Amino acid sequence: MALKYDFAIIGAGVLGCAIAYQLAAAGRTVVVVDKEGIAGGASGGNLGQISLVDRTEPWHMELALESLREYKTLEEKYKFGFRQTGGCVLLSNDAQVSRAESVKSILGEYGVSSELLRKKKAQAMEPMLDVQRVKGLYYCAEEGMLEPLQVTFLFQEMASRYGVQFRSGEALLGFDMTGGVIEKARTTAGTLAADCFINCAGGWAGDVANLAGEAIPVCHHRGTAMVSQAVPRLLRTTLVGGGFLMGNAAGPRPSLHIGTALCQQENGTILMAQATEESPADSRAVSVAGITGIGANLLAYFPGFKQLDVLRVWAVSTAFSADGNPVFGKHQGLDNLFTFAGFKGAFTTAPAVARKAATLLLYGNNNLPDLAPGPERKINHVD
Ligand SMILES: Cc1cc2nc3c(=O)[nH]c(=O)nc-3n(C[C@H](O)[C@H](O)[C@H](O)COP(=O)(O)OP(=O)(O)OC[C@H]3O[C@@H](n4cnc5c(N)ncnc54)[C@H](O)[C@@H]3O)c2cc1C
Repeated sequence: MALKYDFAIIGAGVLGCAIAYQLAAAGRTVVVVDKEGIAGGASGGNLGQISLVDRTEPWHMELALESLREYKTLEEKYKFGFRQTGGCVLLSNDAQVSRAESVKSILGEYGVSSELLRKKKAQAMEPMLDVQRVKGLYYCAEEGMLEPLQVTFLFQEMASRYGVQFRSGEALLGFDMTGGVIEKARTTAGTLAADCFINCAGGWAGDVANLAGEAIPVCHHRGTAMVSQAVPRLLRTTLVGGGFLMGNAAGPRPSLHIGTALCQQENGTILMAQATEESPADSRAVSVAGITGIGANLLAYFPGFKQLDVLRVWAVSTAFSADGNPVFGKHQGLDNLFTFAGFKGAFTTAPAVARKAATLLLYGNNNLPDLAPGPERKINHVD
């Protein structure tokens, strides 16, 4: 007799692996399929920065703070490179300074302290920074970084210990449905029977929903990053450009957007990003415009970095939504399909999102009052 799982998860990124762990720890049978492998999507190609200053909505901040606590506990036990180095936003104009001041008071309401550093203090914080280029830095000591691959593999290992089956190189092709119920998934390896199907396909989540005749407002763009050789310590904190604070700009998105993000890993390598570009979801192409844009931005702030050698450059699809909100919940048109996707910088919130998702899947309660309208608002059946 063919095996029927309680849950089948599509996507073995950080979210799929963390949700699999939560469900299996509650005694359920779980299979995770991924067309590539563990961390084969954005979870294997990002900087691992943990940020709070761009999560000012209560639901978002609660998820981030709960996840920070969980990372601290997990780090003590498993060591996956989590470090609270502090994080800085490069403030390059008055609008960004003024936004940093309001964010500072919002963070204060959650007991998270942060500080605007004018030029002298900014220079002391990041000695390689050309402080003439900025109005100052917005610093939050609670922020930091982790090793994204190690974290994703940690959740996968913890899930495997509870018996979760991970099937790599297996792509979802479609669903067999009766009425509003998915009976089986069709994959490149055959069929997959489960009581409940979970879409954790990140930048591909919209495609997976489409296979079930559903539309979700999760889009994707291709993010580019690069890594240098190991060098003595040049950066103390994680850094992002001031645009990071400013929220989603209204109007059409540019086909190529160049931002700034960088951090130095414990081994001395410097990770640098980020160009985001329109592209097909499976494209991993690196564009000259993307790389040169990242390089130009970095050298403007850190002219001393012109001696750095870039060893490797990569690009991968990652999810976003136009209004910055994720899709979290059950599809209205189907009884047993759920989507969890579109969380920005998903590493910052993944442990808590996985816990809330598992609560919803197991007990039908997501305990997320501000997110609750999300699924109804955002997941529409396509007639
Ligand atoms: C350059 C770059 C830098 C970033 N920096 C940061 C950062 O500093 N901090 C941070 O928190 N976030 C960062 N992010 C974003 C972060 O990587 C994502 O938010 C996170 O990895 C999303 O995890 P996920 O599990 O939802 O999706 P993913 O990790 O993308 O996982 C989705 C999985 O679904 C699989 N899949 C898709 N379609 C199918 C199918 N049909 N069948 C089977 N499997 C399928 C894919 O192969 C993939 O493995 C960055 C992203 C990029 C690209």
